[in-house]
Amino acid sequence: MPRSPSALPDSATVVVIGGGVIGTSAAFHLSEAGVDVVLVERRQLGSGSTSRAAGGVRTQFSDVLNIEIAKRSLAAFRDFTRRPGWEIDLKEVGYLFVITREQDLRAFEQSVALQREHGLDSRILTSRETCELCSLLEGDDILGGSFSPGDGHATPDGVVQGYASGARALGAHLRTGCEVLAISTSGDRITEVMTDAGPIRTNVVICAAGPWSRACGAMVGVDLPVVPLRRQILFTEPMQGLPNKLPMTIDFESSFYFHREGPGLLMGMSDPYAAPGFSVETTDDWIPDLMAVVRRRAPRIADIGIRGGWAGLYEMTPDHNAIIGEADTASRFLYATGFSGHGFLQGPAVGEILRDMVLRRPPFIDIAPLSADRFDAAALRPEYNVV
Ligand SMILES: Cc1cc2nc3c(=O)[nH]c(=O)nc-3n(C[C@H](O)[C@H](O)[C@H](O)COP(=O)(O)OP(=O)(O)OC[C@H]3O[C@@H](n4cnc5c(N)ncnc54)[C@H](O)[C@@H]3O)c2cc1C
Repeated sequence: MPRSPSALPDSATVVVIGGGVIGTSAAFHLSEAGVDVVLVERRQLGSGSTSRAAGGVRTQFSDVLNIEIAKRSLAAFRDFTRRPGWEIDLKEVGYLFVITREQDLRAFEQSVALQREHGLDSRILTSRETCELCSLLEGDDILGGSFSPGDGHATPDGVVQGYASGARALGAHLRTGCEVLAISTSGDRITEVMTDAGPIRTNVVICAAGPWSRACGAMVGVDLPVVPLRRQILFTEPMQGLPNKLPMTIDFESSFYFHREGPGLLMGMSDPYAAPGFSVETTDDWIPDLMAVVRRRAPRIADIGIRGGWAGLYEMTPDHNAIIGEADTASRFLYATGFSGHGFLQGPAVGEILRDMVLRRPPFIDIAPLSADRFDAAALRPEYNVV
């Protein structure tokens, strides 16, 4: 019997698992290259980590691969209203790390030198310049800052919707409310993806399942060491006198960060007591620690009321760097996951890389060091600039 147009296609050249920034970006880039792709998302597009992200977009990393991936992604965000053609509210207000420890200052000086070698305009600021740039900051312990003027923040949901609508316009099939349950193989070759709406014949699968990637890898016997970790965000009431060009600001030692969100602020901080797990319930237990840092570092914010917030999941790996590669046990299982809190800003370039991996073309950068094998080979790539 013929299937209706909204039915799940019974075959595809590529099946993408996950409709966050990585999956939709991959679907867009593949469709643009003429590849027949089906994306399967068990809830709604963006409903995983992506819609919970703070939207920070930065090129300030310590690892050269992250610098290149972020640089390429930033260029794509700047061009997003043309390709794929969607408004993402990109604010190029700059990104400011506030530094209070000598060892961090030394490390940021090295990172900035590397970033500048790669054509970026980042720089180390004095303590006075740091506080002038972000007038909410206070503290005699501020040693300086690391600043990149072209960075900033954008709307994660806009990026997902933009890539999804671009992919659909190019013929991709994006199916929401549909869960991948299993992947069948014959020998080492993938033959089928089984979903709760039926099977899809395919030989190529992309795992873009964010914090849930370990279960996805297990379907083909690949260990993707991705651990979910809850992070929370708060939104303040409107704040008088906020400058239009307030940089995205991070107190590196505490990880307290904030950026402008309409007439108020979005702010967050990591919770050292958070235990790994999939819960995204909001809690109050981290707020006393947050407010202690706010009172010390940006006391004017402590006087503003809180209007709401949410919790989401970071997808942590042992070295806080992404896992991107192709399984050598199951042909062709490709994965891009474990972004450890910086996956939103890497989404555009990673979609491009996945497209090239599918087409067996060399991507714009050699991502071999990011493969999951590095954990067996003890070839970790620690990223220092993690928030
Ligand atoms: C509070 C917070 C703040 C953050 N701030 C930033 C930031 O400022 N900048 C930044 O770059 N990053 C930030 N991040 C990190 C960023 O959100 C993630 O790195 C990124 O969104 C990961 O995208 P993804 O597409 O890999 O995963 P996700 O967005 O989680 O998408 C994976 C999708 O896969 C689906 N899925 C899983 N299993 C299956 C299955 N079996 N079948 C079908 N579908 C499945 C899920 O439903 C989900 O929608 C933040 C994260 C949090 C929680």
